[in-house]
Amino acid sequence: MKIDLHIHSVYSDGCCSPEQIASRIKALGLSGFALTDHDSISGWTRAKKAARDLELTFIPGKEIVIREPIRPKEKKGRKVGEILALFLDEDIKIKKEEQNISNLHEIADQIHDRNGIIAVPHPFSIFFRTQKIIYYLAKNKIKFDAIETMNGRCNAFENAKSMDYASEYKIPQIGGSDAHTFREIGTVYTFADANNIEDYRKAIKKGFGKPIGIQKGNIEINLNRLNGRIIRFLK
Ligand SMILES: [Zn+2]
Repeated sequence: MKIDLHIHSVYSDGCCSPEQIASRIKALGLSGFALTDHDSISGWTRAKKAARDLELTFIPGKEIVIREPIRPKEKKGRKVGEILALFLDEDIKIKKEEQNISNLHEIADQIHDRNGIIAVPHPFSIFFRTQKIIYYLAKNKIKFDAIETMNGRCNAFENAKSMDYASEYKIPQIGGSDAHTFREIGTVYTFADANNIEDYRKAIKKGFGKPIGIQKGNIEINLNRLNGRIIRFLK
């Protein structure tokens, strides 16, 4: 199965509806997609139906921002990174304001209790400011299941660093486009030898998933970001 495990829709800061995402995935010949909107599961119902209509596999997900506690004169805590929760049965019961490092254990437990797996997206991205998350996960001895070693919005250097880290510590790898615009959808996916979602999930957890995609250059990555901003501005 070939599944893009990291896609944003109009339910967070993406430009596409769940139906447009499903249509693009189908046109590219992939098996399915995960919807991983920022701190939101509002698109799940539509995405599930859109996937079913096109005989695609849908994986419910969520990209959860993690912050440091709020310091004096700050409105919100500084971002330390994000966690990609995939294969969730239902939403976690922690409010967005409480998604901070002191609740990391609780967040991880809730994801695992809901059949989910924890992947660390773009862990060495300079743009996303997500480099501290690995440190906090290690410091709190929190087990994560996978690392995103090919992210469609990371450059070759950042993805290579993630791959080196995953190889060194023998952590399962996944890939996802992190698409916010139509053209980005399905440009990176994770292949695993499986016939159904449960076998695919197990394969990913065991480290049999293979991130696949063509590495984009810095100019293309930044044009995609700009394109997303323009589309959102015009809406
Ligand atoms: Zn993302």
